[in-house]
Amino acid sequence: MRCMDFALTETQEITRKTVRDFAEQEIIPQSHTFDESQEFPHAWAKKMGELGLLGVFVPEKYGGAGLDTICYAITIEELSRGDASAGVIAAVCNGLVCEPLLHYGTEEQKRKFLEPVARGEWLGAYALTEPGSGSDAAAMRTTATLERNEWVLRGTKTFATNASVAKIVVVYARTGAKKHEISAFVVPTDAKGFSVLKKEDKMGIRASDTVTLGFDGCRIQKDNLLGELHKGFTIAMATLDGGRIGIAAQALGIAQRALEESTKYAKERQAFGQKIADFQAIQWKLADMATEIDAARLLTYRAAHLEDLGTAAHLRIQRRETLLVGGGPPSRRRRRSNPRWVRIRQGLRRGEAVSRPARHGDL
Ligand SMILES: Cc1cc2nc3c(=O)[nH]c(=O)nc-3n(C[C@H](O)[C@H](O)[C@H](O)COP(=O)(O)OP(=O)(O)OC[C@H]3O[C@@H](n4cnc5c(N)ncnc54)[C@H](O)[C@@H]3O)c2cc1C
Repeated sequence: MRCMDFALTETQEITRKTVRDFAEQEIIPQSHTFDESQEFPHAWAKKMGELGLLGVFVPEKYGGAGLDTICYAITIEELSRGDASAGVIAAVCNGLVCEPLLHYGTEEQKRKFLEPVARGEWLGAYALTEPGSGSDAAAMRTTATLERNEWVLRGTKTFATNASVAKIVVVYARTGAKKHEISAFVVPTDAKGFSVLKKEDKMGIRASDTVTLGFDGCRIQKDNLLGELHKGFTIAMATLDGGRIGIAAQALGIAQRALEESTKYAKERQAFGQKIADFQAIQWKLADMATEIDAARLLTYRAAHLEDLGTAAHLRIQRRETLLVGGGPPSRRRRRSNPRWVRIRQGLRRGEAVSRPARHGDL
């Protein structure tokens, strides 16, 4: 008899328990303090690195944990259940830094840049967005020119997560006159001409730093070109496709925690002489939340499973699913439960108006 098995494997269960224990013991008790102060949680990042959470799907030979994409989704879900900042710090290292290095890096680049990030010794960042180009990423103005055997970058990037604490940034810059003649580069943050110009004062996920970067004649080695010349736009878009699993998992973890907190409150709060949890109208709201979260979890894990299978058809379905979970419009309930967070989540992805035609085209 053929059947579908929705049970997690032993490794996936162990991953959840490990990350949840870490979040319960070390993230949740400090979450409010870091959110208020906007201080970067170095201790969380260090522990995440030690636990292998910054290179979850990177093969062990490159310093990673060598786990599957469902383990990655569970990791980001559980970190985000603890604090969304922890989730985004790890998601950027895994999905936006390790991923392109693993798939497009030379063997030398993997040894030099991927391994330290996957081992948790370095943090990494991803710089695509500019003050004048977000959803329309190919309208970027940052340039890279080859001068005396070095790439020289000139321009400004904005909203770069982790970048003020990272050792390397995967940067996209224009290398030709045509719109998509863009290339990807690995820029060490101690490179001459690299600077952090401004930190955003965000409404939520405030322990995660989001900064503007200046490239003022920033010189890097010729070998730091990642992938082929002029093929960086493809790398950026492919990276964001996988990155949507991380975004979906973040949304899932935050929604799960919102449900747990709402349930706890409903069981404590008294009105009209009884706990509000005893009112059927409140029970329905909680039941609806639980149902939506369960549906979102199934979609996210299926997208992660399809990512591991990796064919074009699977990836199309995966993209549709992660857009629905991580990139779809917030439900009224989620907006009510944490309006600050939902505003931030909307900003993290490429605009809904841009992603929706792609989603419709896939249906
Ligand atoms: C917390 C946070 C962290 C981030 N981290 C990173 C990071 O690490 N690295 C990085 O490179 N970027 C990062 N970003 C940037 C993020 O990817 C961009 O915000 C996103 O791509 C949207 O770009 P934008 O904000 O410039 O909005 P815009 O593209 O200017 O869009 C503004 C509005 O116009 C709408 N719009 C755009 N195009 C169309 C269209 N064709 N039709 C109809 N409406 C349209 C959009 O839906 C949106 O509502 C981060 C953002 C946030 C908020």
